[in-house]
Amino acid sequence: MSLRLYNTMTRQKEEFIPQQSGKVGIYACGPTTYNFFHLGNARMLVAFDMIRRYFAYKGFDVNYVQNFTDVDDKIIKLAREEGVEALAFANKYIDEYFTDAKALNILPATVHPKASEHIDEILKIIQGLLDANLAYVVNGDVYFAVNRFRGYGKLSGRNLEDMQAGARVEVDERKRHPMDFALWKAAKPEEPAWESPWGMGRPGWHIECTAMSLKYLGAGFDIHGGGGDLVFPHHENEIAQSEGYLRGRKFAHYWIHTAFLTVNQEKMSKSLGNFFTVRELLQHFPGEVLRFYLLSTHYRSLLDFDDHKLAEAQKALARLQTSVRLVSEALNRLNKTDSDLNGENKVKDSVLIQAANQARGDFVEAMDDDFNSSLAYASLFELAKVINSNLGAKEPDVNGLLIARQTLLELGGVLGFDLANPASLAAQAEADDGILASVMDVLVEVRNRSRKKKDWETADFIRDALKEINIVIEDTPQGTNWRLKNKSG
Ligand code: AMP
Ligand code: ZN
Repeated sequence: MSLRLYNTMTRQKEEFIPQQSGKVGIYACGPTTYNFFHLGNARMLVAFDMIRRYFAYKGFDVNYVQNFTDVDDKIIKLAREEGVEALAFANKYIDEYFTDAKALNILPATVHPKASEHIDEILKIIQGLLDANLAYVVNGDVYFAVNRFRGYGKLSGRNLEDMQAGARVEVDERKRHPMDFALWKAAKPEEPAWESPWGMGRPGWHIECTAMSLKYLGAGFDIHGGGGDLVFPHHENEIAQSEGYLRGRKFAHYWIHTAFLTVNQEKMSKSLGNFFTVRELLQHFPGEVLRFYLLSTHYRSLLDFDDHKLAEAQKALARLQTSVRLVSEALNRLNKTDSDLNGENKVKDSVLIQAANQARGDFVEAMDDDFNSSLAYASLFELAKVINSNLGAKEPDVNGLLIARQTLLELGGVLGFDLANPASLAAQAEADDGILASVMDVLVEVRNRSRKKKDWETADFIRDALKEINIVIEDTPQGTNWRLKNKSG
């Protein structure tokens, strides 16, 4: 079965044909590390994690490169405000990135290159662009000359004349064309700076991704992507400088962009201040719930933040987890494990086995169609439903239960959910315990008040009714206690 994906460059779904059979190279533009990452960043990060996991599931050898931008105006500004060195400041948030990524079950990329560690590669490319007459130096800055690159605007569908008209307000006399962009910026006092043929300075933003993608994936790699805000100017500029440097050879074959996570229809962003960091959301929801929420909408559809939807995601995920728990309990009672599944053709076709096969087929079909994770969810729920309705069978279909459980775990795993080890069920159980304790406090108090008023009928009713549901009330000289009745009574 072939995998189709939407290519921003051609504006249509295309069959994915790898440059090298059985391998896929993916570059995604990662965060600029001056803060904890927010749920909008997480949407892009989780989407690419889902994509690289699916490629691996399809048998591809995946080389996934995700950079950190650690040289940037905002990093420099905030580090200065805190009185720390800019790279140390950026590194702190790179460390924090891995903590939150782990909570979201985002696998580490094959490589996580940093801009600051690729200055030599960056300098080489800038020199190449100067040699090709695609760039020019002005007082220690180096700019890319957009009108020297014929395809400028091809990714975003813009053309230079329109952009020039739209850029009237910009007055920057050093630039030959208003859309020209900095490849290298001359050093300002107290900024991180490196030596270069044009004096001390630091790279502009776009050039780092050209340098790092070409280094780790080579020219003409398979997939380049990031959040939709990067189409212009970041990726447009990357294409211009990369293909200019490669003398017209293709930079990347497919471009994938994730839609925004919005808040009241506005992009969630650090600069607008309308963001929730994953770190703060993790205090209210386990990471797997955030992940489940983010993948519940196709990666190219807008997703407007709504905490009710997060609560719904928690319940939906719990349904899948509960199904796995129930089938595991049933199999434990029967003393059966996966090792009882043998390959001697003893596995007969059954409702459960058919449901498992159907689920896998539907799942792959959905994911092959431009990674439609929200449709893929439906196949998991369908399988969970069949499992649940087969749990009480008088003659249990052991093979069917084992295969159905394996399939549910396998497909959940492709999307990055460990359904057999749920964090959220544990959290839910804790929350339920808390609620039970509070309700019991109220009931004990009501019963005590009844007893004070010698209303024995109400007091006894409360005690007996609770006993019916296995909660034992005990009156002691120190006060009234309650406990859950254990099996021995
Ligand atoms: P930044 O740290 O702003 O450079 O963003 C890191 C990555 O997150 C980039 O690929 C952005 O396109 C992506 N991103 C930022 N904000 C959002 C958002 N609200 N929704 C989806 N992706 C986003
Ligand atoms: Zn980039």
